[in-house]
Amino acid sequence: MEQMHSPMPQDLKGLADALEAAEARLQSILQTVPDAMIIIDEQGRIESLSTTAERLFGYVKSEVVGRKVDLFMSTPHREQHDSYLKRYLSTGERRIIGIGRVVTGRRKDGTTFPMHLTVGELQLADRHYFTGFIRDLTDQQLTESRLKELQSEVTHMSRFMALGEMASTLAHEINQPLTAIANYLKGCRRLLERMAGEQALVLHDAVSKAADQALRAGDIIRRLREFVARGESERRIESLPKLIEDASTLALIGAKENAVTVSFRLDPAADLVLADRIQIQQVLVNLIRNAIEVMSEGGQRRQLDIATVANGGDLVEVSVSDTGAGIAPEVAAQLFQPFVTTKRKGMGLGLSICRTIIEAHGGKIWVDTPPGGGTIFRFTLRAANEEDRSLVE
Ligand code: ADP
Repeated sequence: MEQMHSPMPQDLKGLADALEAAEARLQSILQTVPDAMIIIDEQGRIESLSTTAERLFGYVKSEVVGRKVDLFMSTPHREQHDSYLKRYLSTGERRIIGIGRVVTGRRKDGTTFPMHLTVGELQLADRHYFTGFIRDLTDQQLTESRLKELQSEVTHMSRFMALGEMASTLAHEINQPLTAIANYLKGCRRLLERMAGEQALVLHDAVSKAADQALRAGDIIRRLREFVARGESERRIESLPKLIEDASTLALIGAKENAVTVSFRLDPAADLVLADRIQIQQVLVNLIRNAIEVMSEGGQRRQLDIATVANGGDLVEVSVSDTGAGIAPEVAAQLFQPFVTTKRKGMGLGLSICRTIIEAHGGKIWVDTPPGGGTIFRFTLRAANEEDRSLVE
């Protein structure tokens, strides 16, 4: 058998340094990680825990290190935990490791709460360690109801906006023939003025009334367009990362099934913006849903990127990029026009609503087609400046 090479003292020193560095790294992770994490040894004794875990269970680290982890559990798991560990170590049968489940946690004061527990396993030399990741579901239940509320707000708003967009398009389409009618009638009236006779007078009167009505219809339409253009947007100072987080949570429901990977690159300098929260969320939901849809049609790589960047001035730019098939040439030129769609069930209103919203916010929306394929939608929003902030405070 090959002899193990025993480390030289210098190697040992290096090893000790490396271990110390690893330990320091672990401690700093545990202090900063936003999740509740608990590391236990194979006897179920607590080795370490994250600051969030201390807070969640109401203990300080020194009170619990070395004690059994069943401290954090409630009946029946509390009594059973030793046997769970023994069973796993002897049979290797996984009941929670890598699977995760909802269990009841127990705080120092004896109160309990629903939590989701996932357990990871770590083997160092011949010893097993287990890492528990805990999510407090009390919050999640709150989030779920908040999400539902948000969803209904955004759906409501999107119907309202779709209606507005339709009204505006119709108004535009109807306005042109109305103007033409008014012009023809004016021409007729001039001709009739030059004709003599009783009937010409009656006709002149009728044509004048018809022209008035055409103008009146035009006025109604103009007012309708103005109303739609004004919309009901109510701009406030909002946190852009929060807007993005909420909107993407909504839009990404079900995205996992399409094997889409999402990444966020949020510029810390792109923080507060002036926005109507629901409307901007709607823009984001539209763009993200379009991106997911196009990627679910095929293609190997399904990568969705949501990024923000502050331009140093008073604008921030938000981008949503996908690795889909790109914009179909037949719609490219009119992408932001209403009723332009390549989808069998599409209304073609999404992007035109996005444009209306962004322009009402004083921003711009456009599309880039990167050379490597896919599509990037970008839009700008006005960053909240000192003056805006002081007005709120
Ligand atoms: P709809 O989704 O109802 O078709 P939209 O206005 O949201 O309406 O989109 C219009 C069209 O733009 C879509 O039908 C599609 O052809 C194209 N499109 C939108 N987003 C993307 C994207 N990320 N990649 C490729 N094409 C897109």
